[in-house]
Amino acid sequence: MRILLLFLDGIGLGPNNTETNPFAVADMPFLTELTDGKRWLEGIGRVQSDRMTFVPTDPRLGVEGRPQSGTSQAVILTGKNIPEMIGRHYGPKPDAETRLLLDSENLFISVKGAGKKAALLDGYPPGLLDNIGRGKTLPSSIQYAAIASGQSLFTAEDVREKRALTAEYTGQEWHSHLKLTDTPLYTPYEAGKMLVELSRHYDFSMHSHWITDYVGHRGPFEAAVGLLERFDGVMQGVVDNWNPDEGLVIVTSDHGNMEQIGDRRHTENDVPTLIYGTLHRQFADGFADLTHITPRILHYLTQ
Ligand SMILES: [Zn+2]
Repeated sequence: MRILLLFLDGIGLGPNNTETNPFAVADMPFLTELTDGKRWLEGIGRVQSDRMTFVPTDPRLGVEGRPQSGTSQAVILTGKNIPEMIGRHYGPKPDAETRLLLDSENLFISVKGAGKKAALLDGYPPGLLDNIGRGKTLPSSIQYAAIASGQSLFTAEDVREKRALTAEYTGQEWHSHLKLTDTPLYTPYEAGKMLVELSRHYDFSMHSHWITDYVGHRGPFEAAVGLLERFDGVMQGVVDNWNPDEGLVIVTSDHGNMEQIGDRRHTENDVPTLIYGTLHRQFADGFADLTHITPRILHYLTQ
């Protein structure tokens, strides 16, 4: 039994508005078919098929304000209502109190503590790793949790040697923006297949895609549409190559944002969670908010 958690920062379920919500117009044939022909929009409700369960998921957790990455990612990785514990939604990076909570316990630590293997599959460019090492950039809660479990974040070398995948899936941005032209390029489908192959080295693995939140804040709309169309191909590559009996693939997010282009702030919408694999019904039973991810994963991986 293994679990692959695919995280996309800042995607929520918003109104069916073709001018502001890229989910209303993006060509996502694979994901739409997976969710019974329904687009990932407000009102989609819980969708269940033989293969998967889709659950609109509460990231607000009863705490006033707009959910933020620092606390929400920490909720995903601890199962604790961290916004309630620290008294607010906070981000984008974790505050000191959240970092302490991640140090004491998180999914990577618990899986490894049970004698299993866990990893964050993203490979990061040298500039970012440098800045984190020098304390110039604070790691995200997801990066922080992996580091707290003893993992060294994967590097460009790991990306070249196919031990890790870039956060943007295809490697395109590494060529066009970072000029790291000796790193691999994948089609979205190949990147999905790669995620499955990488995940087979671990009991629990996670991949974190940040650019959806970035585009959610700044736009433009067309870029958001492009990211969703890319993700559709990635998921087809994941699902085609995942054996449903080997475990679960889970897709989730920390808060809404990109479903409302033009408003630079996060939304308070539900986020999508998709659970794929033979045990999806069991995993989805009673699943409703972001605190429900970690306890269920630990149930399968540590018993
Ligand atoms: Zn954000």
